[in-house]
Amino acid sequence: QHALDRIAAHTQLGAFLHVDAEGALAAAAASDARRAAGQALSRLDGVPIAHKDIFVTEGQPTTAASKMLQGYQSPFDATVVARLKAAGVVNLGKLNCDEFAMGGANENSAYGVARNPWDTSRIPGGSSGASAVAVAARLVAATTGTDTGGSIRQPAALTGITGIKPTYGRCSRYGMIAFASSLDQAGPMARTAEDCALMLDAMSGFDPRDATSAEQVRLHDGSLAANQPGVIGKDLAALTLSAELADKARPLAGLRVGVPKEFFGEGVEAGVLAATRAALAQLEAMGATLVDISLPRTELSIPVYYIIAPAEASSNLSRYDGVKFGHRAAKYSDLNDMYCKTRAEGFGAEVKRRIMIGTYVLSHGYYDAYYLQAQKLRRMIADDFQAAFQQCDVIAGPVAPTVARPIATTSGSQTDPVAEYLADIFTLPASLAGLPGMSVPCGFGEHGMPVGLQLIGNYWQEARLLHAAHAFQ
Ligand code: GLN
Repeated sequence: QHALDRIAAHTQLGAFLHVDAEGALAAAAASDARRAAGQALSRLDGVPIAHKDIFVTEGQPTTAASKMLQGYQSPFDATVVARLKAAGVVNLGKLNCDEFAMGGANENSAYGVARNPWDTSRIPGGSSGASAVAVAARLVAATTGTDTGGSIRQPAALTGITGIKPTYGRCSRYGMIAFASSLDQAGPMARTAEDCALMLDAMSGFDPRDATSAEQVRLHDGSLAANQPGVIGKDLAALTLSAELADKARPLAGLRVGVPKEFFGEGVEAGVLAATRAALAQLEAMGATLVDISLPRTELSIPVYYIIAPAEASSNLSRYDGVKFGHRAAKYSDLNDMYCKTRAEGFGAEVKRRIMIGTYVLSHGYYDAYYLQAQKLRRMIADDFQAAFQQCDVIAGPVAPTVARPIATTSGSQTDPVAEYLADIFTLPASLAGLPGMSVPCGFGEHGMPVGLQLIGNYWQEARLLHAAHAFQ
């Protein structure tokens, strides 16, 4: 009820697309009953959360913030939603985001912008913008987000909360509306690394319904374990225990933190640089060793991502044809006209731009020049990370080059799509490589707005990231 009251009092933030008061109160009552009966409860039992409207949910509408899916209701829950439900969470509803998760400001939603609680004239970041807003404004304790090229880390940074994008394959993509399938990953957003760990631990695990979900994961000590809920918690407990026994005052003793020089160059705001450098100094004071590293193809991650992601999107979004589900144009002359009108009406400008770019780079005459070339570079970007991880255990740097900018409609300016793409420079590399990355609040920059420290780990090293982030917090 407290969460419902806060949601009702803060509708101007544009966070919720659907509030399920009845369902939430019933789930809360069921949780109370479990507690009263003395049942063994998961630590998430009764915790109020909400889902990015990219996850399909039984009994609640799912729109992906698109007109195309207005009124759509899924007959089943996404695996991530089902797993959290099994852990006893109370789901309050569905959160605004960029249409089909395409964007970095939550300005591309067909249902209005979401606002940054620190300054409501500014963006919260995106695409999981409202997932960040709901936590930052204390509407719910935790939320789910999705990250294809930075959509968990970037809004977490811009709103001063914590978020983690796990290794590709850690969480099931079943029931997560597809944007770019080789990049999309689900992850939690919450106030602290500890809360994120609890959420991720419940969300993750192999799922036979997602062919790219992993059956096994590597623990921090290098051994293999089955990918299932609970494995991160165990790995984290073992890591925390060994680190604490080693040196209580210096919990990060022995941790080698790689600092990529390409993340500290031109274009990064002075306030963001200062906050990030102060965070590095704090990690050092806690026993970590800073190591200079290089990720030489950082800049190339932008053209590579903005070829691969639209290519996959153009294919994934072909299913919205007005036939099977979703929006259908009211008037049309023949089948082709029905497709055209349906898609012209249903999709927003950014989604159309991506479909056109994607179709172009995949077309017969240009496939080799763009798509194939991008795939080769993607592999080289991943190899650069492996070379860097020879020298360090985690990589640290800024999440985004700037703090949250003013909302375009408020400031009267027009958003330039290319400028938006450039702001993804520090989150795209880990996405292309499939590596886990997280954002931890590390102070404030320009205009007193929050700044996030990004931590990137090697494959399956989420426990290392969460441990370092927890020590830092
Ligand atoms: N800003 C990036 C994009 O627009 C990333 C979005 C995402 O991670 N979903 O594609």
